[in-house]
Amino acid sequence: MAFELPKLGYAYDALEPHIDAKTMEIHHSKHHQGYTNKLNAAVEGTDLEGVSIEDILASLNKEGQVNWAVRNNGGGYYNHCLFWEILNPNDQGSLSGSLLNAIEKNFGGVDSFKAQFAKAAATQFGSGWAWLCVHQDGSLEICSTPNQDNPLMSGIGCGGTPILGLDVWEHAYYLNYQNRRPDYIEAFFSVINWNEVQKRYDTATKN
Ligand code: MN
Repeated sequence: MAFELPKLGYAYDALEPHIDAKTMEIHHSKHHQGYTNKLNAAVEGTDLEGVSIEDILASLNKEGQVNWAVRNNGGGYYNHCLFWEILNPNDQGSLSGSLLNAIEKNFGGVDSFKAQFAKAAATQFGSGWAWLCVHQDGSLEICSTPNQDNPLMSGIGCGGTPILGLDVWEHAYYLNYQNRRPDYIEAFFSVINWNEVQKRYDTATKN
């Protein structure tokens, strides 16, 4: 069963003016499709064929062996699947309940959380991602990773289950924001689907 490009739950122009339609179309139909195709090619005929993307990512970087095609394209496949789901212009919900409590406990408040997350996204040098991760005890961690790495991979200095991620590759914002990455980061906070982030928090902490 090959990996498939997921359909978006909204139109390409639905996130405007925060994220423009052309960027969304190219990002989803070209970039994410590219990672998907290259991931399928990289696992075809290997013992990773049929393995879930989460298990593939967790298996990477062990014993000093790095399969770069799987690492880069597997990360790219997973990261964008998460990204599309935690964006939603129609059903944003609100930051509340256990997730809000954890944010207040770990970061001292919502404004402080946003500032720390924005700093992680702004200071990631070159291409990469900023993450909000949850550990099994419910505690939260903000970090950033280069390229298409993510916290599910071992040994990258960042742990837990990612429940919110922001793509800071230039392909994610350059058409509309050019060099103004901080403006793109600020706009991102206007289109987060907090219901989805809460759902991922609950799933990661339920056991
Ligand atoms: Mn991207």
